[in-house]
Amino acid sequence: MKRKISILGSTGSIGRQALEVIEKLSDSFEIIALTAGNNTALLNEQIRKFKPKYAFANNINEIEGAKPALLDEICANKENDIILVAVSGKVGLKPTITAINNGIDIALANKETLVMAGDIVMPLAKKNNVNIIPVDSEHCAIHQCIKDISQVDKLIITASGGPFLHKSIDDMKNATVEETLHHPRWNMGKKITVDSATLMNKGLEVIEAHHLFNMSYDKIQVVVHPQSIVHSAIEYIDGSVIAQLGLPSMHIPIQYAITYPERFEGIKSKTFSFSEIARLDFEEPDWEKFKALKIAYSCGRYGGSLPICMNAANEEAVFAFLQGKIKLFDIIDTVVKMLDEHTPVYNLTLDEIFEIDKEVRMKTRESFLQYK
Ligand code: NDP
Ligand code: MG
Repeated sequence: MKRKISILGSTGSIGRQALEVIEKLSDSFEIIALTAGNNTALLNEQIRKFKPKYAFANNINEIEGAKPALLDEICANKENDIILVAVSGKVGLKPTITAINNGIDIALANKETLVMAGDIVMPLAKKNNVNIIPVDSEHCAIHQCIKDISQVDKLIITASGGPFLHKSIDDMKNATVEETLHHPRWNMGKKITVDSATLMNKGLEVIEAHHLFNMSYDKIQVVVHPQSIVHSAIEYIDGSVIAQLGLPSMHIPIQYAITYPERFEGIKSKTFSFSEIARLDFEEPDWEKFKALKIAYSCGRYGGSLPICMNAANEEAVFAFLQGKIKLFDIIDTVVKMLDEHTPVYNLTLDEIFEIDKEVRMKTRESFLQYK
């Protein structure tokens, strides 16, 4: 029987690669819905090719060939066996909760869902017996390594180190948008590519790992591994380390997440060869150059509204950097400033989470007026 799937964010980097996977596995999937933000032209092309029943775009009147539906409606549709949440930003959170409330499994790429509301989302998924299968290569690797979480002593998350790994702090201070977007290993959306350059992306991943695998922050380690071949590892209590390896392609974790627990040959384009790879390097992150990582660990540890504040300030600052309003290091300085001015709040409802997110974003944008 075909697995019925919807893709939120089908026009994005993850969404487009997911459709490439599904095209190869067309006997195994039926698409219920595809959704875009602003790129309705690409969405309409995808509709012509994949024939979903429903579709969403910000400009809903321009959708051709599928019935328009809101993200929440798509996620409440129990025809879905699984929903791939590949939208960027906080817009992913509510529809994910709707899907969980309807007992639909989630393949999760969207980072904000767990960073902003991991304390709500994970217990809800457990209560509703819903699988949350991570798409991000690191969490997908850990998911593949774990047999029995109760016997795991440590999660070891790898980081490529981004384009500035071996550059000086001065080089980084003067980095252009173009240099920052030139990631050595991965081709991703702009926001996550900037986060990979500051290592905020790794910080967000540490927080996600804490929620996904219910692991304390003391037991989550980050190691820099520039080749991006070891996608992450776990250490069992007896000292045995299990790692997941593969060529750096998002097709593999996307396919794993949407076909789990089955595996298919699918889109695999090249055979893995240890001798071709020849060497794998590992090093401790430079905590001074990449302050974002330290900040994310503290925000994660303190919890409550701090990760929400950090995420909102960071996203606004990344947008300002991409628009040429601020410099690369100003991103993390902005995050620190917003955190300093923030009074943490705990035991938040979803509405409170969105309210804090909105307030911090407003304050962050105001803070950029000084740069004019
Ligand atoms: P992109 O920016 O490439 O794509 C984002 C997608 O979300 C697009 O389809 C976009 O639509 C849609 N979207 C954005 N805003 C809205 C909105 N307000 N309403 C509806 N749809 C919206 O991002 P990525 O694919 O790179 O990343 C998606 C998520 O996955 C992010 O949270 C990212 O952190 C995470 N992730 C990405 C990885 C990667 O390799 N790219 C790896 C691991 C995690 P449109 O383009 O039509 O405007
Ligand atoms: Mg990742």
